Amino acid sequence: MHIFEFIRPSDQAAAIATAAESKTAQQGADVRFMGGGTTLIDLMKLNVETPERVLDINRLPLGKIEAMSDGGLKIGATVRNSDLANHPKVQKDYAVLSQAILNGASAQIRNMATVGGNLLQRTRCVYFRDTAMPCNKREPGSGCPAITGHNRTLAILGTSDHCIATNPSDMCVAMAALEATIHVQSPKGPRAIPFGDFHLLPGNTPHRETVLEPGDLITHVTLPPPIVGSKQLYLKLRDRASYEFALSSAAVVLTIAGGSITRAGIALGGVGTKPWRSPEAEAELTGKPANEATFRSAAEAALRNGKPQSENKFKIELAKRCLTYALRTTAAS
Ligand SMILES: Cc1cc2nc3c(=O)[nH]c(=O)nc-3n(C[C@H](O)[C@H](O)[C@H](O)COP(=O)(O)OP(=O)(O)OC[C@H]3O[C@@H](n4cnc5c(N)ncnc54)[C@H](O)[C@@H]3O)c2cc1C
Ligand code: SF4
Repeated sequence: MHIFEFIRPSDQAAAIATAAESKTAQQGADVRFMGGGTTLIDLMKLNVETPERVLDINRLPLGKIEAMSDGGLKIGATVRNSDLANHPKVQKDYAVLSQAILNGASAQIRNMATVGGNLLQRTRCVYFRDTAMPCNKREPGSGCPAITGHNRTLAILGTSDHCIATNPSDMCVAMAALEATIHVQSPKGPRAIPFGDFHLLPGNTPHRETVLEPGDLITHVTLPPPIVGSKQLYLKLRDRASYEFALSSAAVVLTIAGGSITRAGIALGGVGTKPWRSPEAEAELTGKPANEATFRSAAEAALRNGKPQSENKFKIELAKRCLTYALRTTAAS
Protein backbone atom coordinates (compact mmCIF):
# COMPACT_ATOMS: atom_id res chain seq x y z
CA MET A 1 0.00 0.00 0.00
CA HIS A 2 1.21 3.51 -0.82
CA ILE A 3 0.68 6.34 1.68
CA PHE A 4 0.44 9.84 0.13
CA GLU A 5 1.23 12.77 2.42
CA PHE A 6 1.00 16.51 1.72
CA ILE A 7 4.00 18.28 3.21
CA ARG A 8 3.09 21.62 4.78
CA PRO A 9 5.29 24.66 4.00
CA SER A 10 6.83 24.58 7.49
CA ASP A 11 7.57 20.84 7.42
CA GLN A 12 10.49 20.64 4.98
CA ALA A 13 12.96 19.42 7.62
CA ALA A 14 10.53 16.74 8.82
CA ALA A 15 9.97 15.56 5.23
CA ILE A 16 13.73 15.30 4.69
CA ALA A 17 14.08 13.33 7.94
CA THR A 18 11.32 10.96 6.80
CA ALA A 19 12.96 10.45 3.40
CA ALA A 20 16.29 9.82 5.10
CA GLU A 21 14.77 6.65 6.60
CA SER A 22 14.55 5.16 3.09
CA LYS A 23 17.08 2.42 2.40
CA THR A 24 18.04 4.10 -0.90
CA ALA A 25 17.31 7.21 -2.94
CA GLN A 26 17.74 5.16 -6.13
CA GLN A 27 15.65 2.36 -7.68
CA GLY A 28 13.65 0.64 -4.93
CA ALA A 29 13.34 3.71 -2.66
CA ASP A 30 10.62 3.18 -0.06
CA VAL A 31 10.07 6.92 0.42
CA ARG A 32 9.74 9.27 -2.55
CA PHE A 33 9.19 13.00 -2.89
CA MET A 34 6.58 13.89 -5.50
CA GLY A 35 6.61 16.94 -7.77
CA GLY A 36 4.17 16.81 -10.70
CA GLY A 37 3.96 13.02 -10.45
CA THR A 38 4.16 12.61 -14.25
CA THR A 39 7.02 10.12 -13.96
CA LEU A 40 6.50 8.74 -10.47
CA ILE A 41 2.77 7.93 -10.67
CA ASP A 42 3.21 6.38 -14.13
CA LEU A 43 5.88 4.05 -12.77
CA MET A 44 3.86 3.24 -9.65
CA LYS A 45 0.95 2.16 -11.84
CA LEU A 46 3.37 -0.19 -13.63
CA ASN A 47 4.79 -1.49 -10.32
CA VAL A 48 8.23 -0.31 -11.38
CA GLU A 49 8.28 2.10 -8.44
CA THR A 50 6.76 0.79 -5.22
CA PRO A 51 7.35 3.40 -2.51
CA GLU A 52 5.57 2.90 0.80
CA ARG A 53 5.38 6.66 1.36
CA VAL A 54 5.01 9.43 -1.20
CA LEU A 55 5.69 12.94 0.12
CA ASP A 56 3.97 15.61 -1.96
CA ILE A 57 6.34 18.61 -1.87
CA ASN A 58 4.24 21.02 -3.92
CA ARG A 59 3.35 23.17 -0.89
CA LEU A 60 6.97 23.74 0.10
CA PRO A 61 8.28 27.25 -0.69
CA LEU A 62 10.34 26.04 -3.65
CA GLY A 63 8.28 27.49 -6.49
CA LYS A 64 10.07 30.72 -7.38
CA ILE A 65 12.39 31.88 -10.16
CA GLU A 66 14.65 34.60 -8.79
CA ALA A 67 17.52 36.75 -10.08
CA MET A 68 20.70 36.31 -8.01
CA SER A 69 23.11 39.05 -6.97
CA ASP A 70 25.85 37.65 -9.26
CA GLY A 71 23.52 38.00 -12.27
CA GLY A 72 22.61 34.29 -12.38
CA LEU A 73 19.21 32.69 -11.92
CA LYS A 74 17.82 30.62 -9.04
CA ILE A 75 15.08 28.17 -10.06
CA GLY A 76 13.04 26.47 -7.33
CA ALA A 77 12.59 22.70 -7.52
CA THR A 78 8.79 22.87 -7.81
CA VAL A 79 8.78 25.47 -10.59
CA ARG A 80 6.66 24.00 -13.39
CA ASN A 81 8.42 23.27 -16.66
CA SER A 82 5.99 25.61 -18.50
CA ASP A 83 6.65 28.49 -16.13
CA LEU A 84 10.40 28.08 -16.52
CA ALA A 85 10.25 27.87 -20.32
CA ASN A 86 8.04 30.95 -20.56
CA HIS A 87 9.86 33.12 -18.03
CA PRO A 88 11.03 36.33 -19.80
CA LYS A 89 14.58 36.13 -18.42
CA VAL A 90 14.93 32.49 -19.46
CA GLN A 91 13.63 33.27 -22.94
CA LYS A 92 16.06 36.20 -23.26
CA ASP A 93 19.24 34.98 -21.53
CA TYR A 94 18.94 31.19 -21.49
CA ALA A 95 17.02 30.59 -24.70
CA VAL A 96 18.46 27.10 -25.13
CA LEU A 97 16.77 26.06 -21.88
CA SER A 98 13.40 27.51 -22.86
CA GLN A 99 13.59 25.79 -26.26
CA ALA A 100 14.63 22.45 -24.77
CA ILE A 101 11.71 22.38 -22.33
CA LEU A 102 9.19 23.42 -25.00
CA ASN A 103 10.46 20.55 -27.19
CA GLY A 104 9.55 18.02 -24.49
CA ALA A 105 6.37 16.10 -23.69
CA SER A 106 3.09 18.02 -24.17
CA ALA A 107 1.70 21.31 -22.91
CA GLN A 108 -0.37 19.47 -20.29
CA ILE A 109 2.60 17.49 -18.97
CA ARG A 110 4.83 20.59 -18.93
CA ASN A 111 2.17 22.37 -16.87
CA MET A 112 2.46 19.66 -14.19
CA ALA A 113 6.12 18.62 -14.41
CA THR A 114 8.56 20.26 -12.02
CA VAL A 115 12.24 21.09 -12.37
CA GLY A 116 13.22 18.62 -9.62
CA GLY A 117 11.16 15.84 -11.18
CA ASN A 118 12.54 16.49 -14.65
CA LEU A 119 16.11 16.16 -13.33
CA LEU A 120 15.14 12.69 -12.04
CA GLN A 121 12.91 11.40 -14.82
CA ARG A 122 13.59 7.76 -15.65
CA THR A 123 14.58 6.06 -18.88
CA ARG A 124 11.94 5.07 -21.43
CA CYS A 125 13.67 1.72 -22.15
CA VAL A 126 10.72 -0.64 -22.70
CA TYR A 127 12.22 -3.42 -20.59
CA PHE A 128 12.65 -1.12 -17.60
CA ARG A 129 8.93 -0.37 -17.68
CA ASP A 130 7.85 -4.02 -18.04
CA THR A 131 8.11 -5.99 -14.80
CA ALA A 132 7.66 -9.27 -16.71
CA MET A 133 11.13 -8.73 -18.21
CA PRO A 134 14.57 -8.76 -16.59
CA CYS A 135 16.33 -5.39 -16.28
CA ASN A 136 19.52 -4.60 -14.38
CA LYS A 137 18.34 -1.07 -13.68
CA ARG A 138 15.08 -2.23 -12.09
CA GLU A 139 16.36 -5.48 -10.59
CA PRO A 140 20.15 -5.50 -10.21
CA GLY A 141 21.76 -8.65 -11.59
CA SER A 142 18.72 -9.81 -13.59
CA GLY A 143 20.24 -8.99 -17.00
CA CYS A 144 19.83 -6.51 -19.84
CA PRO A 145 17.57 -7.81 -22.61
CA ALA A 146 17.93 -4.52 -24.51
CA ILE A 147 21.50 -5.38 -25.54
CA THR A 148 20.22 -8.17 -27.80
CA GLY A 149 16.66 -6.88 -28.11
CA HIS A 150 14.85 -3.63 -28.89
CA ASN A 151 17.46 -0.92 -28.64
CA ARG A 152 16.74 1.42 -31.56
CA THR A 153 16.07 4.37 -29.24
CA LEU A 154 18.76 3.56 -26.68
CA ALA A 155 22.18 5.03 -26.01
CA ILE A 156 25.42 5.00 -27.96
CA LEU A 157 27.51 7.03 -25.49
CA GLY A 158 28.33 6.08 -21.91
CA THR A 159 26.89 2.57 -22.15
CA SER A 160 28.14 -0.50 -20.28
CA ASP A 161 27.71 -4.26 -20.57
CA HIS A 162 25.02 -3.93 -17.91
CA CYS A 163 22.81 -1.13 -19.29
CA ILE A 164 22.43 0.91 -22.48
CA ALA A 165 19.42 3.01 -21.47
CA THR A 166 19.16 6.61 -22.68
CA ASN A 167 18.52 9.51 -20.35
CA PRO A 168 15.33 10.95 -21.87
CA SER A 169 15.34 14.54 -20.59
CA ASP A 170 15.46 17.55 -22.90
CA MET A 171 15.71 20.12 -20.10
CA CYS A 172 18.79 18.42 -18.68
CA VAL A 173 20.68 18.66 -21.99
CA ALA A 174 20.32 22.45 -21.97
CA MET A 175 21.26 22.63 -18.28
CA ALA A 176 24.42 20.62 -19.01
CA ALA A 177 25.44 23.06 -21.78
CA LEU A 178 24.68 26.03 -19.49
CA GLU A 179 26.73 24.57 -16.61
CA ALA A 180 23.89 24.62 -14.10
CA THR A 181 24.35 23.64 -10.45
CA ILE A 182 21.90 21.46 -8.52
CA HIS A 183 21.27 22.34 -4.88
CA VAL A 184 20.25 19.69 -2.39
CA GLN A 185 19.17 19.81 1.24
CA SER A 186 19.80 16.72 3.36
CA PRO A 187 19.70 15.98 7.09
CA LYS A 188 23.44 16.83 7.08
CA GLY A 189 22.87 20.28 5.50
CA PRO A 190 22.90 21.82 2.03
CA ARG A 191 25.23 20.94 -0.79
CA ALA A 192 25.77 22.12 -4.37
CA ILE A 193 26.40 19.60 -7.14
CA PRO A 194 27.80 20.71 -10.52
CA PHE A 195 25.43 19.47 -13.22
CA GLY A 196 27.99 17.16 -14.82
CA ASP A 197 28.53 15.33 -11.52
CA PHE A 198 24.84 14.77 -10.73
CA HIS A 199 23.93 11.87 -13.07
CA LEU A 200 25.99 8.67 -12.99
CA LEU A 201 27.12 6.43 -15.83
CA PRO A 202 25.55 2.95 -15.58
CA GLY A 203 28.80 0.99 -15.20
CA ASN A 204 27.95 -2.18 -13.27
CA THR A 205 25.39 -0.37 -11.05
CA PRO A 206 22.75 0.95 -13.48
CA HIS A 207 20.19 1.11 -10.65
CA ARG A 208 22.23 4.04 -9.28
CA GLU A 209 21.37 6.97 -11.57
CA THR A 210 22.43 10.00 -9.52
CA VAL A 211 24.58 10.93 -6.56
CA LEU A 212 21.49 11.45 -4.38
CA GLU A 213 21.36 9.75 -0.98
CA PRO A 214 18.30 9.01 1.20
CA GLY A 215 16.83 12.27 2.51
CA ASP A 216 18.27 14.44 -0.28
CA LEU A 217 15.67 16.98 -1.38
CA ILE A 218 16.49 18.99 -4.49
CA THR A 219 15.63 22.54 -3.45
CA HIS A 220 16.71 24.54 -6.50
CA VAL A 221 18.94 24.82 -9.54
CA THR A 222 21.17 27.80 -10.26
CA LEU A 223 22.36 29.03 -13.63
CA PRO A 224 25.54 31.10 -13.96
CA PRO A 225 25.21 34.70 -15.17
CA PRO A 226 24.24 34.92 -18.84
CA ILE A 227 27.10 34.77 -21.33
CA VAL A 228 27.09 38.20 -22.95
CA GLY A 229 26.62 38.00 -26.72
CA SER A 230 26.09 34.24 -26.79
CA LYS A 231 23.89 32.61 -29.42
CA GLN A 232 21.88 29.59 -28.31
CA LEU A 233 19.85 26.79 -29.85
CA TYR A 234 18.25 23.47 -28.92
CA LEU A 235 17.64 21.13 -31.84
CA LYS A 236 15.68 17.92 -31.31
CA LEU A 237 15.28 15.13 -33.88
CA ARG A 238 12.56 12.54 -33.20
CA ASP A 239 10.19 10.11 -34.88
CA ARG A 240 7.26 12.54 -34.83
CA ALA A 241 6.97 16.28 -34.43
CA SER A 242 5.61 16.41 -30.89
CA TYR A 243 4.97 14.30 -27.80
CA GLU A 244 8.04 12.19 -28.54
CA PHE A 245 11.46 11.68 -27.00
CA ALA A 246 14.66 12.61 -28.83
CA LEU A 247 16.50 10.18 -31.07
CA SER A 248 19.19 12.83 -31.08
CA SER A 249 19.31 16.39 -29.83
CA ALA A 250 21.89 19.14 -29.42
CA ALA A 251 22.11 22.09 -27.04
CA VAL A 252 24.47 24.75 -28.37
CA VAL A 253 25.73 27.90 -26.64
CA LEU A 254 28.23 29.76 -28.84
CA THR A 255 30.06 33.05 -28.57
CA ILE A 256 31.60 34.27 -31.82
CA ALA A 257 33.87 37.29 -32.31
CA GLY A 258 35.43 38.34 -35.62
CA GLY A 259 34.36 35.09 -37.25
CA SER A 260 36.01 32.91 -34.58
CA ILE A 261 34.38 30.92 -31.83
CA THR A 262 35.56 32.26 -28.48
CA ARG A 263 33.44 30.03 -26.24
CA ALA A 264 31.30 26.91 -26.72
CA GLY A 265 28.95 24.96 -24.47
CA ILE A 266 27.77 21.75 -26.15
CA ALA A 267 25.58 18.92 -24.91
CA LEU A 268 23.77 16.07 -26.65
CA GLY A 269 20.48 14.34 -25.84
CA GLY A 270 18.89 11.08 -26.97
CA VAL A 271 22.26 9.39 -27.38
CA GLY A 272 23.81 9.25 -23.91
CA THR A 273 23.16 7.28 -20.74
CA LYS A 274 23.20 10.68 -19.02
CA PRO A 275 22.70 14.23 -20.35
CA TRP A 276 25.82 14.28 -22.50
CA ARG A 277 28.07 17.32 -22.27
CA SER A 278 30.78 17.13 -24.90
CA PRO A 279 34.12 18.66 -23.85
CA GLU A 280 35.55 17.07 -27.03
CA ALA A 281 33.25 19.16 -29.25
CA GLU A 282 33.83 22.27 -27.14
CA ALA A 283 37.63 21.91 -27.50
CA GLU A 284 37.28 21.37 -31.25
CA LEU A 285 35.24 24.58 -31.60
CA THR A 286 36.99 27.01 -29.29
CA GLY A 287 39.41 29.33 -31.06
CA LYS A 288 38.43 28.03 -34.50
CA PRO A 289 36.70 29.80 -37.40
CA ALA A 290 32.92 29.46 -37.31
CA ASN A 291 32.63 27.47 -40.51
CA GLU A 292 31.35 24.16 -41.84
CA ALA A 293 34.68 22.33 -41.47
CA THR A 294 34.90 23.31 -37.80
CA PHE A 295 31.30 22.29 -37.13
CA ARG A 296 31.72 18.88 -38.71
CA SER A 297 35.00 18.18 -36.92
CA ALA A 298 33.31 19.10 -33.62
CA ALA A 299 30.53 16.61 -34.40
CA GLU A 300 33.10 13.93 -35.30
CA ALA A 301 34.87 14.57 -31.98
CA ALA A 302 31.61 14.39 -30.01
CA LEU A 303 30.76 10.97 -31.44
CA ARG A 304 34.29 9.53 -31.55
CA ASN A 305 33.56 7.15 -28.70
CA GLY A 306 30.06 6.29 -29.89
CA LYS A 307 29.27 2.58 -29.60
CA PRO A 308 26.17 1.57 -31.54
CA GLN A 309 23.89 -1.29 -30.59
CA SER A 310 22.29 -3.77 -33.00
CA GLU A 311 19.40 -1.45 -34.01
CA ASN A 312 20.78 2.06 -33.58
CA LYS A 313 23.89 2.40 -35.72
CA PHE A 314 22.02 5.19 -37.54
CA LYS A 315 22.27 7.33 -34.41
CA ILE A 316 25.99 7.94 -34.91
CA GLU A 317 25.51 9.81 -38.19
CA LEU A 318 22.18 11.28 -37.04
CA ALA A 319 23.83 12.79 -33.95
CA LYS A 320 26.71 14.18 -36.03
CA ARG A 321 24.30 15.80 -38.47
CA CYS A 322 22.15 17.06 -35.63
CA LEU A 323 25.08 18.81 -33.97
CA THR A 324 26.52 20.12 -37.26
CA TYR A 325 23.14 21.56 -38.27
CA ALA A 326 22.62 23.08 -34.83
CA LEU A 327 26.06 24.72 -34.91
CA ARG A 328 25.55 26.09 -38.43
CA THR A 329 22.12 27.48 -37.56
CA THR A 330 23.32 28.99 -34.29
CA ALA A 331 26.31 30.66 -35.91
CA ALA A 332 24.11 32.13 -38.66
CA SER A 333 21.49 33.47 -36.24
C1 LIG B 1 3.74 10.92 -22.25
C2 LIG B 1 4.99 11.60 -21.78
C3 LIG B 1 5.84 12.18 -22.70
C4 LIG B 1 7.01 12.81 -22.26
N1 LIG B 1 7.86 13.37 -23.18
C5 LIG B 1 9.00 13.97 -22.74
C6 LIG B 1 9.93 14.56 -23.65
O1 LIG B 1 9.73 14.55 -24.87
N2 LIG B 1 11.05 15.13 -23.16
C7 LIG B 1 11.30 15.18 -21.81
O2 LIG B 1 12.33 15.71 -21.42
N3 LIG B 1 10.46 14.63 -20.94
C8 LIG B 1 9.32 14.02 -21.37
N4 LIG B 1 8.49 13.46 -20.46
C9 LIG B 1 8.90 13.34 -19.07
C10 LIG B 1 8.51 14.53 -18.24
O3 LIG B 1 9.33 15.63 -18.59
C11 LIG B 1 8.74 14.12 -16.80
O4 LIG B 1 7.76 13.16 -16.47
C12 LIG B 1 8.67 15.28 -15.84
O5 LIG B 1 9.64 16.25 -16.11
C13 LIG B 1 8.85 14.78 -14.41
O6 LIG B 1 8.57 15.83 -13.53
P1 LIG B 1 7.56 15.62 -12.32
O7 LIG B 1 7.61 16.83 -11.48
O8 LIG B 1 6.22 15.21 -12.80
O9 LIG B 1 8.29 14.40 -11.59
P2 LIG B 1 7.72 13.38 -10.52
O10 LIG B 1 7.02 12.28 -11.23
O11 LIG B 1 6.99 14.10 -9.44
O12 LIG B 1 9.08 12.85 -9.92
C14 LIG B 1 10.06 12.17 -10.68
C15 LIG B 1 11.13 11.67 -9.74
O13 LIG B 1 11.78 12.77 -9.13
C16 LIG B 1 11.71 12.69 -7.71
N5 LIG B 1 11.60 14.07 -7.23
C17 LIG B 1 10.73 15.01 -7.67
N6 LIG B 1 11.02 16.20 -7.13
C18 LIG B 1 12.08 16.00 -6.30
C19 LIG B 1 12.86 16.86 -5.46
N7 LIG B 1 12.61 18.15 -5.36
N8 LIG B 1 13.89 16.33 -4.77
C20 LIG B 1 14.18 15.00 -4.88
N9 LIG B 1 13.47 14.14 -5.64
C21 LIG B 1 12.45 14.65 -6.36
C22 LIG B 1 10.52 11.81 -7.42
O14 LIG B 1 10.65 11.15 -6.18
C23 LIG B 1 10.59 10.84 -8.59
O15 LIG B 1 11.51 9.80 -8.31
C24 LIG B 1 7.30 12.85 -20.88
C25 LIG B 1 6.42 12.29 -19.95
C26 LIG B 1 5.27 11.67 -20.38
C27 LIG B 1 4.35 11.06 -19.37
S1 SF4 C 1 19.10 -0.95 -21.09
FE1 SF4 C 1 19.12 -0.62 -18.88
S2 SF4 C 1 17.00 -0.09 -18.47
FE2 SF4 C 1 17.01 -1.16 -20.45
S3 SF4 C 1 16.80 -3.37 -20.03
FE3 SF4 C 1 18.95 -2.95 -20.05
S4 SF4 C 1 19.42 -2.60 -17.90
FE4 SF4 C 1 17.24 -2.31 -18.10
